[in-house]
Amino acid sequence: MTVENLVIIGSGPAGYTAAIYAGRAQLNPLVFEGFAAGGVPGGQLMTTTEVENFPGFPAGIQGPELMQQMRQQALRWGARLIQDDVVRVDFQQRPFRVASEELEVYTQGVIICTGATAKRLHLPGEEQFWNNGISACAICDGANPLFQGAEVAVVGGGDSAAEEALYLTKYASRVHLLVRRDCLRASKTMQDRLFHHPQIEIHWHSIPVTAYGDEVLRGVKVQNVQTQEVSSFPVSGLFYAIGHTPNTQIFQGQLALDPGGYIPTLGKSTATDIPGIWAAGDVQDREYRQAITAAGTGCMAALEAERWLSEERSPVLSVFA
Ligand code: NDP
Repeated sequence: MTVENLVIIGSGPAGYTAAIYAGRAQLNPLVFEGFAAGGVPGGQLMTTTEVENFPGFPAGIQGPELMQQMRQQALRWGARLIQDDVVRVDFQQRPFRVASEELEVYTQGVIICTGATAKRLHLPGEEQFWNNGISACAICDGANPLFQGAEVAVVGGGDSAAEEALYLTKYASRVHLLVRRDCLRASKTMQDRLFHHPQIEIHWHSIPVTAYGDEVLRGVKVQNVQTQEVSSFPVSGLFYAIGHTPNTQIFQGQLALDPGGYIPTLGKSTATDIPGIWAAGDVQDREYRQAITAAGTGCMAALEAERWLSEERSPVLSVFA
């Protein structure tokens, strides 16, 4: 039976960074890049246009190109990449088992980097204007010239919606916050900042129902859920901040998940509740959710895996370590 040193599941910035570090540490990592489960291999950046905040690219870089560069770097350091979705894992016994429809492997260690998916509303017009006015990340897309000096709308009432609305005031002339109830879920401090910001207008009991435009978004129709009245908001941007779903369905019952489905990690490490399994990127991060923080935790997971695997291989030495 062949047992892999390290299997990495997922191919966003966390997965490829883990692969680069593990490859350089001569762990010969095997990466299941995914195929259809998370959209396309490469994660959420594959559906982003310009990435302006990833250090090292002062002129910005297209999301898919950034992922292609990370992929090439992982290959250069010997990572073996498989474009296949993992459909089953068994973490109850060692070596662990990881399987796609085509292949089942045994492995000593696993780094989970399956990411999270931003929730969408599936409005009429949403597909047409996705990345042409509609986005699920103001911090990624807010500086786009489309939104400079324009009116935009943010949907949601949590901390993300508050943060995104406040962030967008740097670029947009006015930010309409569409909240479906009569109160916010965001922390008190964030609420105070929203209530006192001259560029932010909160619309209670409001949900967007249709997006319209031509090549780009020109506006949204918004319904008041109490009166059923529908009005048009001529906005150039519509930002969803209605939460994320971590891609952890295949891990249910295999390791600890928090009530939101995220994988909890131990302290400042990427260790999960099972020794030999680490989690990096958005699958364990509900707060920062940036390409650079995902890459950072991917690096941490590979370094932790390298240490753990070397101790596992030399159990006598580890007793005296
Ligand atoms: P939350 O789940 O906290 O909030 C989601 C918001 O979206 C809620 O107001 C919810 O409304 C609304 N919503 C959900 N579905 C719909 C829908 N179909 N139509 C309209 N509105 C909808 O998600 P967040 O991403 O804001 O936050 C997740 C976690 O991350 C929280 O614990 C938060 O505190 C934390 N966080 C912390 C930050 C910080 O500290 N800086 C920054 C960002 C997040 P309703 O209230 O009616 O359910």
